[in-house]
Amino acid sequence: MDNYLLRQRDYLLSISRAMTARLDMPSLLQLIIEKAVEMLRGEAGLIALLERDEDFRIHASYGLPARTPQPFAPLLTDIPLYQANWPFPDLYARLQLVAATAGINLQQVVGLPLTLEDALIGVIYVFRTRDTAFSANDRQVLSSFADQAAIAVRNAKLYQQLAEEKRRLDAIIENSADGVLILDAKCRIETINRALAEITGWAPEQARGQLCSRVLALRDGQGRNVCETACPLEATAQEGRLEVEGDIVRPDGQRTSVSITYSPLYDDEGSLVNIIGSVHDVTRFREAEEMKAMFISVISHELKTPVALIKGYANTLRREDAHWDADTVDESLTIIEEESDRLDRLINNLLEASRIQAGTLRMDMSDVHIPKLAAKAVDRFRVQALGHELQLDFPPNFPTLLGDEERLQGVLYNLVSNAIKYSPKGGKIRVGGRVWRDHVEVYVSDQGQGIPSEQQSRLFEPFYRVDSSLGRSTQGVGLGLFLSKAIIEGHGGRIWVESAPGQGSTFRFTLPLR
Ligand code: ADP
Repeated sequence: MDNYLLRQRDYLLSISRAMTARLDMPSLLQLIIEKAVEMLRGEAGLIALLERDEDFRIHASYGLPARTPQPFAPLLTDIPLYQANWPFPDLYARLQLVAATAGINLQQVVGLPLTLEDALIGVIYVFRTRDTAFSANDRQVLSSFADQAAIAVRNAKLYQQLAEEKRRLDAIIENSADGVLILDAKCRIETINRALAEITGWAPEQARGQLCSRVLALRDGQGRNVCETACPLEATAQEGRLEVEGDIVRPDGQRTSVSITYSPLYDDEGSLVNIIGSVHDVTRFREAEEMKAMFISVISHELKTPVALIKGYANTLRREDAHWDADTVDESLTIIEEESDRLDRLINNLLEASRIQAGTLRMDMSDVHIPKLAAKAVDRFRVQALGHELQLDFPPNFPTLLGDEERLQGVLYNLVSNAIKYSPKGGKIRVGGRVWRDHVEVYVSDQGQGIPSEQQSRLFEPFYRVDSSLGRSTQGVGLGLFLSKAIIEGHGGRIWVESAPGQGSTFRFTLPLR
């Protein structure tokens, strides 16, 4: 092999090596043009690529003053799109034009198209400042460089596409409302997205590298660790969808019910590469299920008791063999009346609850004087109260406001009735209010059993009852506070509770003044 060919081979080899090592197009094109110029014993050169708008733009140059694309325009316009039309005939004239405008001494030029799968993607030029024409051999050599450059462009494009694709996927994963985790073959976390970081309380960078069982630590209803007892990934040998359900508990105690679907990813040889987990928050669904179950059991229980009583007393009164004295008849009828009222209230509450959930609760507004309603509530329940001291505490100038009188009366009945129900040992029950600049605040306080703080926010959910022996023995379906909250909020106010176990409770609500 002659020296020239040997050198050419060495150059191309060094470029191929560089090509496998670097993937960024600019530095690779730079290397190619430098080597091409050296190889052809030229002084300068450039590579221009076809842009989307069919213009050629210089991507790498050598031996030319930096940032002078303008004078090279003659070499970058009207370039033949087909290889067969190369070299284009007036190339030499164009070079002279360039040399004149750029003020550079360029005497000779050789140019070749860069093609990829028969499509023109760019041009490569090498220039000489002395007047020795490029030979056919030079052209031959340049064509090898052109091929390399075309491959470099293709690789870099693929790489760019991949990077773009990855960025897009990353963004989708990161912003997915569902939790997403990507595990390696040993179930160690490679990625968790924002939603899952939120659910688990693990920062993504902390979670990375941890075993997924550590970060998820799924619990079942009995508090057992599902990751240890029933991990579906233990059986990854089988293909297909792998699912598991459980609760994720954050360090701060926040619990989320999730359903996780794992999809294993295998490489061409069939070995496990990654496992993608999609974590779906099913808390609401679970709660709805629980609520439905609770609804059915509470309602059936609460409906059954009065119906049984009414039926029992009616039956007894009808017995023809018995002659009831007036008192007994009166007592029985009172019970029948009371129980019918209870049924009526329950049915009304259910209707109101369904109106709230359907968003069709309409207020019937008029002038309302809260102290008057409070006095009515206290009077009504004084009879029921055993060992309770009921007090009213309103300032004399308490204003009249616009509200739904019947419903606000209902709220006060409910709060006072609860205060009595949940303070079985008696004590003071105070109903009072304060006037602020743009709203009033009303409270009902008792000295009863109180409510643990973690349950306080849930009291206002439908059918929620604090599970205690007292709760089980008192009547109620857990709708009162839910309805009260909807009514108060319907007036533009707020309702909340201040309480501690054994310390009594104070329910407060606000109502805006006009
Ligand atoms: P119900 O009284 O029918 O159960 P509510 O919605 O009125 O329904 O109250 C929900 C739960 O809140 C009650 O079951 C009870 O556990 C708790 N609760 C309400 N008021 C009080 C109170 N004053 N003291 C203690 N617990 C209360």
